[in-house]
Amino acid sequence: MIAPARARRPGAERPRLEPDADDVSKCPFCEGREGATPPETFAIGPPGRPADSPGWRVRVVPNKFPAFGPWSDEGDRGGLFARRAALGRQEVVIHSPKHVRTLADLSVRELELVAEAWQARAATAREQGFPYLQALINEGRAAGASLQHSHSQLVWLKEEPPLAAEELHTQASEGGCVLCRVLREELDQRIRVVSERDGLVLLCPFAARQPYELLVAPERCERDPYTSESLGAALVLVAEGLRRLHVAEGAVPVNAWLHATGHWHLEVVPRLTVLAGLELGVGYFVNTLAPESAAGVLRES
Ligand SMILES: [Zn+2]
Ligand SMILES: [Zn+2]
Ligand SMILES: [Zn+2]
Repeated sequence: MIAPARARRPGAERPRLEPDADDVSKCPFCEGREGATPPETFAIGPPGRPADSPGWRVRVVPNKFPAFGPWSDEGDRGGLFARRAALGRQEVVIHSPKHVRTLADLSVRELELVAEAWQARAATAREQGFPYLQALINEGRAAGASLQHSHSQLVWLKEEPPLAAEELHTQASEGGCVLCRVLREELDQRIRVVSERDGLVLLCPFAARQPYELLVAPERCERDPYTSESLGAALVLVAEGLRRLHVAEGAVPVNAWLHATGHWHLEVVPRLTVLAGLELGVGYFVNTLAPESAAGVLRES
C-alpha cells in the first residue's frame, strides 16, 4: 500500500547508521584482532598465511552468538548443541581487513572477494549436507547488526527456509519464471529501473514494501548464484544502489539477502520506517514512497 502522506505524520523521523563506536580499537573484525573471534573456517589471503593471523582480504568465522549451530563457549545444556547443529550452522564473513562501515564503501575487488567467499562456503556447506545457504547482510543497529564493521552472515540450512520455499512455490505454480517476466516488463517500461550493467539489473520492485526497496537480478535466467560468474557483479550493483541511497537519504540502516530460489536475486530493504501491526500481523506493507518515485530519485543521485 503506497501512502506518501504517512511520511509527514508526527514522529516519523528517519533512522541513520550510528556514528562510529568509540572503541574501534577493540573491533574484533579489524585486521590484527583475529584472536577476538572464533577460529576462522575460511579466508582469502596470500598463500602460506597461517590461520587467524593478519594478511587476509576476506575472513570467515563461526558466529559467536548463533541462532543455528553450536558454539563452544556456551556450554551444552540438554543436548542443545546437537539439536541446533542438526538444523544448521551460522558463519560471519568479514568483508575487509579495514574498518569499513558499509557495503557502499567496499571496492569492486573487495566485493568480488566477498562473492568468492560466499561461493566457497556454499560448496563446503553442500559437501557437508546443507544444500541451502542463506547469505544476508544487516547494516546498522535498526537493521539488527550488532557490530559496525561491514560483514555478512551465512546460514547453512538443510532445506529452503519459509520465504524461499514460498518463492519457489510461486515459481512452480505460475508455469514459467515469474522474475523473467517481471524483468522483461521492467526493462520495457524503464520506470522503476535504476541501473543496468554486466547483464544485471538494479530496480525498485513494483510491490516495494519500504521506501527505496531494491532488487538486483541477472537478466538471464540463472538458478544457482553460488556457481554463477555474476554474483560479484551483483554485489557491486547492490553497493551502487546503496551509494545512490546514501546520496539521497544519508547512510541509513538496511537489510539485504540473497535468494537462491529459481531465478536468483538479491533483495535490499532500507529500514526507514518501523514495521508495525499492519505489516507484522496483517501482512500489508505500508510504503510512504512509490517505487517509481524512488527509482527516479536514485537515478539522479
Ligand atoms: Zn573493525
Ligand atoms: Zn528467470
Ligand atoms: Zn526473493
